[in-house]
Amino acid sequence: PVRTRFAPSPTGYLHLGGARTALYSWAFARHFGGTFILRIEDTDLERSTPEAVQAIIDGMKWLGLEHDEGPFYQMQRMERYREVVAAMLKEGSAYLCYSSPEEVEAMRERMRAAGEKPRYDGTWRPQEGKTLPAVPADRKPVVRFKNPLDGDVSWDDVVKGTITISNRELDDLVIARPDGTPTYNFCVAVDDWDMGITHVLRGDDHVNNTPRQINILRAIGAPLPLYGHLPMILGADGEKLSKRHGAVSVMDYPAQGYLPEAMLNYLARLGWSHGDDEVFSMAQFCEWFNLNHLTKSAAQFNHEKLAWLNNHYIKQADNARLAELARPLMLAEGAQFDGAPDLALVLGMLKERVNTVNELAAAAMLFYRAPQPDAALLAQHLNDAVKPALAQFAERCQSVEWSKEALAAMIKEVLAAHALKMPLLAMPLRLIVTGQLQTPAIDAVLQVFGRETILARLAKYL
Ligand code: GLU
Repeated sequence: PVRTRFAPSPTGYLHLGGARTALYSWAFARHFGGTFILRIEDTDLERSTPEAVQAIIDGMKWLGLEHDEGPFYQMQRMERYREVVAAMLKEGSAYLCYSSPEEVEAMRERMRAAGEKPRYDGTWRPQEGKTLPAVPADRKPVVRFKNPLDGDVSWDDVVKGTITISNRELDDLVIARPDGTPTYNFCVAVDDWDMGITHVLRGDDHVNNTPRQINILRAIGAPLPLYGHLPMILGADGEKLSKRHGAVSVMDYPAQGYLPEAMLNYLARLGWSHGDDEVFSMAQFCEWFNLNHLTKSAAQFNHEKLAWLNNHYIKQADNARLAELARPLMLAEGAQFDGAPDLALVLGMLKERVNTVNELAAAAMLFYRAPQPDAALLAQHLNDAVKPALAQFAERCQSVEWSKEALAAMIKEVLAAHALKMPLLAMPLRLIVTGQLQTPAIDAVLQVFGRETILARLAKYL
């Protein structure tokens, strides 16, 4: 059975690259009816914060990437790591190393000077027929992994193809510090083993860690997962995506009025393809997703494309859901909902042309605040030539059937009777009714406001 994991380090927010990794791991598990695990890698006590853990959980929740197991916290697994360290010492795949940090630095310096790759020189590494130095008093040892001396580590990366590293390139990694705390690569290996992970998808900044983890997994007798290292996400300028390019935290997007389905669809296509298909649901994605069409080259984040997808999903979205998202934004702008048109109805009328819920909320405000037409504009548009027509219009509003069609027909008749063209009547009407010159089609606006409101607003100017 397929078991995947998302294993973020909680040192900031959930960024777009992390979200994409999570999405692919999740979709892969879903595709095979497998299990998706959330694991919080919080052993870096200086950089990990509870706020960052919460930010990851919030981001995953907003995206709807539900985990089946976890969240597991590495800090809660310390006993288990100690147990594995002890077992490795016992059966000889790890050893105690009493070299001081200064000694280790000195040996590295010597190797650098000799033009070699700096590494631990194996002073404390046990070997047949070798006598180890005397244990220095008052010095706590680190535990080192007995990395194979010869041969290669090789894996078929599902994104990058076969990668081979010579064991000579790899150090005898410290797996536990003098105080007994385990180190990063060791924890990841033990976790992937204990959690039965079959497929590891992660950023390609981890390629260098993989041979170390593979050696540890082999030493502890664990099966190897398949690895896939996803290339980075770049900004439009080809540089690694960063704050400079705008929002990089996933949770900045709901705040700007993006829908999670737009973000998911966007991230799904950013690093994976299915022919020319651009717009698809997550159900469809889970059905399609496999490891054969992951993009090998770095992906460029394209904000316009995300905005376009967001427009698409806003148009598809249920109006009541949009209303729930827009209402708090509008309240903050002083919107008055009492006796005003139904918000879902208004948003449904406006949603064709907006890219974000925030734009939608801003566009809807005209229905929820008292109109305050600019006096100069009013003087210009509500002139003597128009006034009789407007009076007749108000008169007919008393009895006309209150539908868009009937209102449009009635307006035509009034225009004909006064030999006026549409804008001459529509502009002052817009000003009086909404306070602005730009609105959706006037018949639609009238219809949404309702007869009472329209008559009341007209009365002030007639
Ligand atoms: N904790 C690592 C990170 O946040 C990911 C480790 C992994 O996926 O193996 O980059």
